Amino acid sequence: MSLDERDFFTDRQEMRTGKYPCPRCRRSNDYSVRWVRRVKKDRLPPGADEGDRARFAKLKDYLLRLDEDVVCKACGKKFDIPSQQSLVFVDQLSGLPNDDELEAEIRAASGDTEPEPEAKPALPARFTRKPTGWK
Ligand SMILES: [Zn+2]
Repeated sequence: MSLDERDFFTDRQEMRTGKYPCPRCRRSNDYSVRWVRRVKKDRLPPGADEGDRARFAKLKDYLLRLDEDVVCKACGKKFDIPSQQSLVFVDQLSGLPNDDELEAEIRAASGDTEPEPEAKPALPARFTRKPTGWK
């Protein structure tokens, strides 16, 4: 009998703040998202066989992101958190891609280089008055 990977870890939920760029308005903001931290158990659970022992030896603590998307603080659009950041090994926490690389990747993936009109900052009323007599 082979054990499930879950048997090797103790799960603990935690909130982490991540900086994610919105693919629509391109503004980066900090978002609080839910993660589960999987901490490897001190010892093999009962019933482990040789295969489990080998797997267990290679396992490392990691974080798994639970939230799939966030709502942009700037434009209010919901967007997916980049999927390459859905699993992070605890010993690699400092090795995350930087924001610039991430933004470039998102732009390339979405194929959308123009921010949507509603993403522009609101203008004072005197600039948004409907033009008259220009037809
Ligand atoms: Zn946005």
